[in-house]
Amino acid sequence: MKVLVINCGSSSLKFQLIDAETEKLLFKGLCERIGIEGSCISFTVTGQEKITRETPMPEHKTAVSLVLNALTETGVVKSLSEIDAVGHRIVHGGEKFTKSVVIDENVIKAIEEVSDLAPLHNPANVIGIRACQDLMPGTPMVAVFDTAFHQTMPQDAYLYGLPYDYYEKFKIRRYGFHGTSHSFVSKKTAELENKDYSQLKTIVCHLGNGASVSAVLNGKCVDTSMGLTPLEGLIMGTRCGSIDPSVIETIEKKTGKNTAEVMKVLNKESGVYGLSRNLSSDFRDLEDGYLAKDENAIRAVDSFCYQVVKYIGAYALVMGGVDCIAFTAGVGENSGFVRKLIIDKLGMLGITLNEEANKVRGEEKLISTPDSKVHVWVVPTNEELAIARDTYSLLAK
Ligand code: ADP
Repeated sequence: MKVLVINCGSSSLKFQLIDAETEKLLFKGLCERIGIEGSCISFTVTGQEKITRETPMPEHKTAVSLVLNALTETGVVKSLSEIDAVGHRIVHGGEKFTKSVVIDENVIKAIEEVSDLAPLHNPANVIGIRACQDLMPGTPMVAVFDTAFHQTMPQDAYLYGLPYDYYEKFKIRRYGFHGTSHSFVSKKTAELENKDYSQLKTIVCHLGNGASVSAVLNGKCVDTSMGLTPLEGLIMGTRCGSIDPSVIETIEKKTGKNTAEVMKVLNKESGVYGLSRNLSSDFRDLEDGYLAKDENAIRAVDSFCYQVVKYIGAYALVMGGVDCIAFTAGVGENSGFVRKLIIDKLGMLGITLNEEANKVRGEEKLISTPDSKVHVWVVPTNEELAIARDTYSLLAK
């Protein structure tokens, strides 16, 4: 079964074609600046050079149509009928979706109903579904939710200390995101450990531009750092992470900004970017700065690592211990530097780093020493493959 995986954002569309039986990636790419001047599509047929084309994309349907054209033009598929299914990444499933589902009109309606919880993402996701329905009528589709894996969290972990009415009426609670990645990486870690997933305590550190930590106890997520939206939790590339809610009012008073403007600061101008006085949100630049003893880089990176350590400590206690810690996503997979800064602070848990192994980049590898009480792994995430797997397993039945 060939599965087209679609990750549709407000102005971008990422896509991959995966052979779900062999799990081989056949084709991947990205449409950028949809609806904006200067839009472009880039794609790579596995094993060939990347192709980039500037071309107008007034709307998402044009982008999907260009992706389908590229698939046939390059000969990856002879005709669109070879695409057996489409798997869509959906950001927010609210409390309705605890696992992936086959898309029908009721599912689309339900995704639209929780759009107020993710106003930037869910409407774009639905546009992506509609565009595929129009251009590939009859092709079965599956929705895979970023929030679904976290739906096993117990009430104690997902409730905020707010009037309970707000939860009951407005569903204001912790949901968590990056669920597809946390699920994929925690399962893969159990495999690498050669242990039963349902009997393992794992902490997954998904450290990318967006970053979150989750506690996975016996195969179920019991806590995660992101909340109602992906703004809560760790200090991220440009997002502030957890702050005292009163900070918003204080910034408004001090700067004269309105709430929307302050939210933009918290989402786009904060995190390691803001802490480093706008040096960079990219950890490669921050690492260079850190090594050159730039105090802006040191401040940002040390604050980021401190928060990761804090969550690991909390989650170890929440689960009554921890067997494995897995590092994943852009920073977690690639930066031995950041991993070392974090792991060196975990001595109390009996963890020691294997410095030689920690040189690894983007490969599955055990990076703790043989006598370390907790096994620490680098486990590359693959959200698209996870989406293709779910799509296959739902439709192959
Ligand atoms: P997202 O999907 O949230 O946009 P990624 O998981 O792709 O993010 O991570 C992107 C981040 O990974 C970059 O901003 C960069 O900080 C970091 N990164 C990528 N490669 C490296 C590297 N070699 N060393 C350090 N950081 C890296």
